[in-house]
Amino acid sequence: MHILHVVGARPNFMKAAPVMRALSLLPGVRQTLVHTGQHYDANMSDVFFQELEIPAPDVNMQVGSGSHAQQTAEIMTRFEPVVLEHKPDLVLVYGDVNSTVAALLVCSKLLVRVGHVEAGLRSFDRTMPEEVNRLVTDQLSDLLFTPSEDGNRNLAREGIDASKVHLVGNVMIDTLIRMLPRAAERLQSWLPDRFALVTLHRPSNVDDLPWLVQMLETLQQIGRDVMVVFPVHPRTRQRLAEAGVNRFAANHLRLLDPLPYLDFLALQTRATLVITDSGGVQEESTYLGIPCLTVRENTERPITVDMGTNILVGRDLGRVRSEFESIVSGHPKGGARPPLWDGKAAGRIAQIVCGKC
Ligand code: UDP
Repeated sequence: MHILHVVGARPNFMKAAPVMRALSLLPGVRQTLVHTGQHYDANMSDVFFQELEIPAPDVNMQVGSGSHAQQTAEIMTRFEPVVLEHKPDLVLVYGDVNSTVAALLVCSKLLVRVGHVEAGLRSFDRTMPEEVNRLVTDQLSDLLFTPSEDGNRNLAREGIDASKVHLVGNVMIDTLIRMLPRAAERLQSWLPDRFALVTLHRPSNVDDLPWLVQMLETLQQIGRDVMVVFPVHPRTRQRLAEAGVNRFAANHLRLLDPLPYLDFLALQTRATLVITDSGGVQEESTYLGIPCLTVRENTERPITVDMGTNILVGRDLGRVRSEFESIVSGHPKGGARPPLWDGKAAGRIAQIVCGKC
């Protein structure tokens, strides 16, 4: 069986790595890896291939940045001949980025079967480009691998045939569990005992420059109590420059470049709290039991709020401050690990995929 994987952006790499590894253990499986090049900076792409030991891509389409329409169209145009040449039996797509939906559309028209890893997540907010990508990808996929029960419920409500849907658990947590021992070796000597770890990159947050400036002011205030460590996504870096707010960087507010996976994980395991709008970081902090404040009005990962340590604070910066106060004064929310977030999700996917060989 020939399986072709499509990855393109940072959060895809942690998801594809364990699936490729699990499939490589099965006899009779040939794999091809296509990198669309949606993320291309070394610290957003190459470093993850090295650390997560992902084989070098067989094809790099180098699409680069662009508007959503440009990027999606460019990936489709470049991916169609790749599929025609490689003739895979199954294409696996990951998460909710433009590469995911673009590859899905190409395969659907060429009648090539597609499996979607991380299916069924819904924020119910169609202003989010990721939500559009999720909806379209799930409608047309042949195999849907969900990380949690809520995913199965969402897909059932949308009329997806239950025989296509498989609750397998969370592949991003597979990577986290595998990498934890190595991350422990990466602790930074300059880190104090207590610190807040921050990531922000959702356009709905960082493209709103007045809000972004206020957020930086809030982080500066927080920094008076505990150090704030903020690895800045390239998009956010660009917005900060446009807003002229690099001046906020100070000893107690460390604006860093995006970190390699192991360094970021090392920080996450030790953080007093994380403040984020990332999907993956909501999940990882729930697994690690680290308090998480999500600065969004909604989340496609409600299990991290219902069961885990995540608190949805919205874009209300007063609430960020007050929840921060509760955490540092010793009253964090606490939480538990969701079922099947056990490091074995990719193995389940491999078994299902090969059962359909
Ligand atoms: N991450 C990382 N370095 C950083 C920030 C995040 O390695 O500086 C990892 C994080 O641990 C998680 C993933 O990137 O595994 C989340 O990706 P991102 O926040 O870009 O996307 P989202 O999950 O929101 O789609």
